[in-house]
Amino acid sequence: MTDLFTTIVRSPVARKVGVPQPTRLRRYEPGMPLCDGPVLVAGHGRFADGVASWLGGAGVRAVSAPTEAGDKVGAVVLDLSTAIDPAELDQLRLLGAPAVKALKRNGRVVVIGTDPATLTDVAQVTTQRALEGAVRSIGKELRGGATANLVLAQEDAQDGVRSAVEFFLSGRSAYVDGQVVRVDASTTGDADALRPLAGKVAVVTGAARGIGAEIARVLSRDGATVVAVDVPAAGDALAAVANDVKGTALQLDVTADDAGRRIVEHARSRHGGLDVVVHNAGITRDKLFVNMDDDRWRSVMDVNLRSVLRMNEAVLGEGGLSDGGRIVCVASIAGIAGNRGQTNYGASKAGVIGLVEALSRQVADRGITVNAVAPGFIETEMTARIPFATREIGRRMNSLQQGGHPKDVAETIAWLAQPGTGAVTGQVVRVCGQSLLGA
Ligand code: NAD
Repeated sequence: MTDLFTTIVRSPVARKVGVPQPTRLRRYEPGMPLCDGPVLVAGHGRFADGVASWLGGAGVRAVSAPTEAGDKVGAVVLDLSTAIDPAELDQLRLLGAPAVKALKRNGRVVVIGTDPATLTDVAQVTTQRALEGAVRSIGKELRGGATANLVLAQEDAQDGVRSAVEFFLSGRSAYVDGQVVRVDASTTGDADALRPLAGKVAVVTGAARGIGAEIARVLSRDGATVVAVDVPAAGDALAAVANDVKGTALQLDVTADDAGRRIVEHARSRHGGLDVVVHNAGITRDKLFVNMDDDRWRSVMDVNLRSVLRMNEAVLGEGGLSDGGRIVCVASIAGIAGNRGQTNYGASKAGVIGLVEALSRQVADRGITVNAVAPGFIETEMTARIPFATREIGRRMNSLQQGGHPKDVAETIAWLAQPGTGAVTGQVVRVCGQSLLGA
């Protein structure tokens, strides 16, 4: 979906008079190279050699310094995971600045650090925590669709680092900017690069339209068999999505007491099991706090939060989600930053973040991960209803200076659903182009 503003600024007249053009983001399509150009891998941490070696295996040229003047790179990966003193942060500047200068459009900066939560030495924690401020600031300076993200790894988190670095380098993360992802030392097997979800059964709620329909499409493209869930009133649109992805439709109100049980029964009886659950269904019923009525408050809490808690009980019960399964919730930056007129929505989405943090710990011993994505401004029917001026501001106030597409949210969810993402759990990945809200 292209918005009116983008259509106008991309028009021949606007181009002729020099109106700045929002960069067309390099979004993932199956078979496209991981990166557009060589990847500069620098730094002396625990992971740099491994990254250079698997990049080579994936057919990407890894270089250790900017080559002759003028040579551009598609990405730079800087490993500072063993830095223990703030003086070593100079390396970020000395190695990173020339590389960033050589970055192509839609380039990538990925910094690897050590998760400060796993450290005790004060100087070391200080040093590693500093990386976050630097990377978020680099993200705000980059232009031309380029992004900067940080991977904070535990010791021996080779598989997790690979999964996260691959995601950040690829077009799957086109609208993910200024983010921090923590990876633990979980090990994962290899998956088919083109169809990483082959053999998996995935349920997506709120799949009749918008972000949910796109999640269904992307999960199916990546090999999953999809059960598309939505309310009976959206039955026709739901059937169209289910047919499109060659999956099945389940008409269901997620607030029903038996919603979780029916999802599990449907997935088992029609497809033989359940491996991925995406809680995407959501509503807004905005009103200033002082005027908020019972109905608005309760309906938003019921759909966005209480239904998720209830469905998870059934989904995690006997015969439900397989060991090694994935739960991905859709939160919102309104749950991180708050939003005027959205106390109900902000509370429900912040609650989802709490749920993800707590539940992830409970199910870790089964190899199940629980994560959330927090979309920023995404071009959907939900955001098309926002009054024009507010909508324009929401759409532009991010480092990439444009709204995201439903596909951007779907790609991040599909990554979190992969078997290879077992080292990422209890986290929230914002898909917001580094929105200034809650930054
Ligand atoms: P949307 O309104 O276009 O689609 C939501 C879908 O959920 C609809 O098909 C609807 O029928 C379904 N749904 C609503 N209540 C349901 C219920 N009780 N049972 C089953 N299905 C139900 O919204 P969207 O923009 O695609 O948003 C999807 C998710 O992303 C929501 O959780 C929303 O809060 C979140 N989100 C969206 C944005 C954005 O910019 N669009 C930003 C942040 C978060």
